[in-house]
Amino acid sequence: MLIDTHCHIQFKPLSNDIEGVINRAKKEGVKKMIVVGCDIKSTQEAIEIAKNHEGIFASVGLHPQDARKLTGEMWQILKKLASHEKVVAIGETGLDYFKEYSPKNVQINVLKQHIALSNELNKPLIIHNRDADEECLEILRENGASNAVFHCFGSDAIFARKVWMAGYMTSFTGIITYPKAHNLRSVVEECPLDAMMIETDCPYLSPQKFRGKTNEPSYILEVALEIARIKNVPFSEIAEITTKNAEEFFGI
Ligand SMILES: [Zn+2]
Repeated sequence: MLIDTHCHIQFKPLSNDIEGVINRAKKEGVKKMIVVGCDIKSTQEAIEIAKNHEGIFASVGLHPQDARKLTGEMWQILKKLASHEKVVAIGETGLDYFKEYSPKNVQINVLKQHIALSNELNKPLIIHNRDADEECLEILRENGASNAVFHCFGSDAIFARKVWMAGYMTSFTGIITYPKAHNLRSVVEECPLDAMMIETDCPYLSPQKFRGKTNEPSYILEVALEIARIKNVPFSEIAEITTKNAEEFFGI
C-alpha cells in the first residue's frame, strides 16, 4: 500500500489515458494520490479528477515560475478552489532561483500569499524549492507556516537537517534511483522515518528502471524499494510509514 504524494496526471501525455494510469497504479498498490496544481487550469483539472475518483485528492497553487502572471482576480479564483473538500494542500508554491522565470521579489510575495492561505484553511503547503534553500526556509518560518513538505527534495544533507529541525517534511522522487545521485541517497539514509514521503512528480523524473518512458504513479514502487534498500529496512515498513506520514500530513 503506497501513496503518490505528488503527481501531475492531468498533464499530457498521462491525461490522454487517465483511467488506465489510475488502474495501473491501483494494481501496484497505490491506493491514494495527490494531483498537484500549478496554475488555474491544472488545478481545476486536478479537482475534476479528484471529484470522480475515490482516493484521489487535489492541491491548489501557482508554480513559482509563473508567479509573475498572478493577478488579484486569479488569486480569488484559486482561493475559492482551495476550499473544495477534495483539496488537501496548497501548492505547488515556493522559490525557483535556478530558472528564475519570475523575479525573486515576485516569487517571494506569491509564496507568502500561499502561506497565508495555508494557515487560513489549515491545509499543508507543497513547496517547490530550487537554489533558494535558506531563503525559502526562512520565509516559511517567519510567516508561521505550520505544515510544509519540500517536494522533490534535491538539496544537501546540511539543509535537509535544517528542514527536519523546523518540523517540515521531505519528499523523494525517482531521482534517488539515478546512478549519480550519491549525495541525495545519503540524505535518504539520514532522513528520519517520520519526516519522509514519496512521490513520482510524474510525468517527469521516471525512475532509473523506466528511464526514457513517461513516468506515472504506478512507478512509485521503485522509489519505495530504493529507500528500503538505502536504509536497509524491509520494504513493507517503508510502505507503511510513508503511507502513514502522508495520511497524517494531508489529513486523508
Ligand atoms: Zn510538481
